[in-house]
Amino acid sequence: MPTNNRLPNYINGQWQNSVATEIREVFDPATAELLSETPFSTATEVDAAAQAASVAFERWRRTPAPERIQPLFKLKELMEAHFDELARTIVLENGKTLGEARGEMRRAIENVEVACGIPTMMQGVFSEDIARGIDEFMIRQPVGVVAIIAPFNFPGMIPFWFLPYALATGNTAVVKPSERTPMTMRRAFELLEEAGFPPGVVNLVNGGPDTVNAILDHPTIRAISFVGSTPVARHVYARAAANGKRVQAQGGAKNPLVVLPDADLEMTTRIVTDSVYGNAGQRCLAASLVITVGEAKNTFTPALKEAAATRVVGHGLQEGVQMGPVISPQSRDRISSLIEMGTKEGASLLLDGRFLDAPELANGSFLKPTILENVHPNSELAGTEIFGPVMGLMHAETFDEALAWVNSGRYGNMACLFTSDGAAARRFRHEVQAGNIGINIGVAAPMAFFPFSGWKDSFFGTLHAQSGHSVEFYTQTKVVVERWLKEWSRQF
Ligand code: NAD
Repeated sequence: MPTNNRLPNYINGQWQNSVATEIREVFDPATAELLSETPFSTATEVDAAAQAASVAFERWRRTPAPERIQPLFKLKELMEAHFDELARTIVLENGKTLGEARGEMRRAIENVEVACGIPTMMQGVFSEDIARGIDEFMIRQPVGVVAIIAPFNFPGMIPFWFLPYALATGNTAVVKPSERTPMTMRRAFELLEEAGFPPGVVNLVNGGPDTVNAILDHPTIRAISFVGSTPVARHVYARAAANGKRVQAQGGAKNPLVVLPDADLEMTTRIVTDSVYGNAGQRCLAASLVITVGEAKNTFTPALKEAAATRVVGHGLQEGVQMGPVISPQSRDRISSLIEMGTKEGASLLLDGRFLDAPELANGSFLKPTILENVHPNSELAGTEIFGPVMGLMHAETFDEALAWVNSGRYGNMACLFTSDGAAARRFRHEVQAGNIGINIGVAAPMAFFPFSGWKDSFFGTLHAQSGHSVEFYTQTKVVVERWLKEWSRQF
């Protein structure tokens, strides 16, 4: 295996150095230390991976499902055995805390576990005697070579929203991690290799936008699973669909949390601030707008400020740290300028996290928690995904007003309500236009056996990641109507 700093690709069961001349340097966001280099693999390398996957598909699709899941069982064991090492790699390249990275890897493993149920999950349906002597049934078959394109914020989990199901249903795959956080997948692929998937069944191609476009245009690749920002999700959806592929493309978010006056003060404050500032706000299910209703303004505003102000910021591997850096200096500067924009639009800075009085963190891309109060519902800030540790605090007079604000947004990834009123909760989940709903939950991340349901500008496609949706996405149905010899059929 190549040992220099440049990350290799894994194609047809071989670790290979990319021929790319363009690279992106990968830095530890907490220290700015150079960790590795991502090669921007060329269209020729994408082609090599797609061809290898296509050849491997012919055997893999004929491998019975109970056999196909054996390497997945092995993979689960390997991921458990290397759990901490994988989590530490995530901390290193992404900056999040070790606890957050462990949570991420736990969800990745859950998806491997659920996909091990494929022999049952991909069963067909059978109707005997749809007419005299005639039976009809539907079976599911894999679509072929599929590609998975991932963002930077969950380098260990997001490829596993897709990969276990794609492989278990009999497809072969090409994975392209984020160029900003490619090291976790490199280690995961060493484990995939050890788990015993035949050469060509899983392939890793590192790269950037041009690599993605080569994947979207490749005639052999039949399906695309994408997660990233909304503009890129839109692009991926349109380009891949124009090339006749099936696509699921998850985009960005701006998630609102509504707090009613009857919400439990201590629990709600803790959960809301965890949602806003967990993963330094770089989570597609991060709360971004917190809307108090009526009297809740008076009790929750000081409590939220206190909880945000006392959050411990530092290196993700350090004991007791609750929030790491954002991904890059560019991202930190972008977030700072959005805070500035918010104040220009009339919001007031209840807590300003742009200035860090910690010399030991000076090299990293750190911000402290920020709260912008009285964000106007029609302002640009209210509609912009910040992807950083910034709470937009809004105060509604009534529940009706809060619901209208929630539904006025362009995104629909998640919305949450905090209350002890069952009727309000029922109304919220019925009326709110979002795919993932939390009731007294701040990060409503679906377990692996539920679909990850984004709506509106947070998702382009029909079938979501994880669970039975994945099985449908990665299989095509075949319907057979069957009549046998006259004497075997009941001809009356
Ligand atoms: P991104 O859109 O910049 O990158 C995602 C992927 O697209 C990467 O692999 C990248 O190489 C590729 N890419 C980037 N620009 C491209 C272009 N112009 N053409 C083709 N490919 C391109 O996203 P990111 O910054 O890595 O991740 C953060 C975003 O992802 C946020 O918007 C976040 O909300 C979103 N996200 C969404 C979910 C979800 O489930 N909806 C989950 C995680 C992250």
